Amino acid sequence: MLPKFELDIHTHTIASGHAYGTIREMAQAAAERELKLLGITEHAPGIPGTTDPIYFGNLRAVPSHLYGVRVLHGSEINVMNDGTLSLDERYLKYLNYGIVGIHRPCYTDVGREKNTENLISCMRHPKVFFVSHPDDDHTPLNYEKLVPAAKELHVALEVNNSSFAKPDYRLNCVANYETMLPLCMKYRVPIVVDSDAHDPSAVGTFEAARALLERLDFDPELILNTSVDKFFDFIWYTPAD
Ligand SMILES: [Zn+2]
Ligand SMILES: [Zn+2]
Repeated sequence: MLPKFELDIHTHTIASGHAYGTIREMAQAAAERELKLLGITEHAPGIPGTTDPIYFGNLRAVPSHLYGVRVLHGSEINVMNDGTLSLDERYLKYLNYGIVGIHRPCYTDVGREKNTENLISCMRHPKVFFVSHPDDDHTPLNYEKLVPAAKELHVALEVNNSSFAKPDYRLNCVANYETMLPLCMKYRVPIVVDSDAHDPSAVGTFEAARALLERLDFDPELILNTSVDKFFDFIWYTPAD
């Protein structure tokens, strides 16, 4: 049995345009599921209907704790076809961390090798600590290249719990995780399990991802969710309160 997970760091609120909870509703759900930390990560420009990036510039207005849960702020930033991030530098500085991910509304598949190159190019930014759902064969990835690059660039790879519920949308996600996760153990690359909740009801839901990790006998040492301190160390974050 894997230890209990203390944090969920990839979630969306109404600000993302196609998600349905407020920050407070998401934090309340996190408290009910006994999480210690919730990360809110609205989509960056490129996803239709998401927030204007000015949103990221005023995040200090949000209390650091809601319902006893610490709230951090990131953004899920798109990988663009030229290997750049879809969020401008002047907004990145306000974030606790960046997650980069390929999203088909603003990315065209250019084949396994070039997709991997574009993703790795985005992972080089110092604010980027995570890759979201690296699991979809609509935009395939070369895991033999991605995983060592994650090690070199101090980036953790995500196991996205919501991918398991939409296998047509995240094509071959289980098979891709079965390739990626043993390589993460081989190269000692940390992973993070995220709900990618777009509604409070999904905050802290990790069951499908946990079942896969248990089946693969994945090393809990490499799972950032097992301790808030381990997570803080990974993103080089020192809480002010
Ligand atoms: Zn995403
Ligand atoms: Zn997301």
